[in-house]
Amino acid sequence: MAVHTKVEQHFVNELAELRKADLIKEERYIRSPQGADIAVEYPPRSAVKQVINFCANNYLGLSSHPELIKAAKLALEERGFGLSSVRFICGTQDRHKDLEQKISEFLGMEDAILYSSCFDANGGVFEALLNEEDALISDELNHASIIDGIRLCKAERHRYKHADMADLEQQLKDTQAKRFRMIVTDGVFSMDGDVARLVEITALADRYNAILFVDDSHATGFVGKTGRGTHEHHNVMGKVDIITTTFGKALGGSAGGCVVGRKFFIDILRQRSRPYLFSNTLSPVVVGATIKALDLIQSSTELRDKLDRNARYFRRRISEAGFQIKDGFHPIVPIMLGEAGIVQAMARELYGEGIYVVGFFFPVVPKGAARIRVQLSAAHEMHHIDRAVEAFSKVGRKLGVVK
Ligand SMILES: *Cc1c(COP(=O)(O)O)cnc(C)c1O
Repeated sequence: MAVHTKVEQHFVNELAELRKADLIKEERYIRSPQGADIAVEYPPRSAVKQVINFCANNYLGLSSHPELIKAAKLALEERGFGLSSVRFICGTQDRHKDLEQKISEFLGMEDAILYSSCFDANGGVFEALLNEEDALISDELNHASIIDGIRLCKAERHRYKHADMADLEQQLKDTQAKRFRMIVTDGVFSMDGDVARLVEITALADRYNAILFVDDSHATGFVGKTGRGTHEHHNVMGKVDIITTTFGKALGGSAGGCVVGRKFFIDILRQRSRPYLFSNTLSPVVVGATIKALDLIQSSTELRDKLDRNARYFRRRISEAGFQIKDGFHPIVPIMLGEAGIVQAMARELYGEGIYVVGFFFPVVPKGAARIRVQLSAAHEMHHIDRAVEAFSKVGRKLGVVK
């Protein structure tokens, strides 16, 4: 036997510890396509239950959109399922180049490079562009994939307090001797739904000659007047140097991500970025459907407008019901409940009422700031939202969270 009993014992104990601390993440089996109304089997092997989904990143409701399914089928027929290769050997189809052009135009940049995920994009971008002569200055609440990407890079690492412009400026001053500096931030922070202060950050990047990197995964497709993202929202298009984003959220939600930016950055990444060079190309199916998603978004703002109305409506109704939320406009709406125990009880009871939401607590968010994160979608209708507010009120009263 290759695995020693000591090894097994170690991991079995770790799992037991997690279970004791109520930190085990349970997966629920969805028996339907992703959408507003889904059929869920939970706990496993129990009866399938119809619930309303409020925890997907399906912002524009494109995950199961008929036009995307049609485009995926067409791509499957015209270009096949897989390419069995990385891009630089024989993994580049005309459609990959089409998607790169479309996403870079949409985001107002020169060029784009595709990855299997945004996690990979973030894993492959820093190391390929910077080395020990340089410094990275990163918001402390940046996504895990940014943290990992930075770990792989030899540049000096600095963190600034979340959205703290004075701290960012101090670190820019402290690193003046380095060859290049790169400011790194999420466009939208996923736990609070708050938007990076790009007006101030672009001004600081200008003043201190720093490269500005924004991961817009929770924004691309729906934030900003025409859905281009946080740079459009803050009216600083053209002032962000590098954007990474995912196709796994608003743009159909299957897989894939990209880095977009000036052409010379992208050209270097094609030569040096390890997840691009050593991992398989995106499936034509994903490429075809993602192109369709971008076409839909650019032909009309109807979906992002509907999402915006839904988010505003839910934010107003849930506040009126007495719940405390984080201010903002984003479809991520954190409902602040304080303690982990309440959050878990609340999520369980809501599930009983047919509302699928998840709770977040320490260590994912600070102690005492446990919350239920509701995510709105353009797939929701008013009746879905009304139903959720009713259920929140009922369960909230029962648990003594609201009067
Ligand atoms: C979701 C997310 C990612 C990961 O995207 P994938 O394409 O699913 O790997 C990266 N960065 C941020 C900010 C995200 O929210």
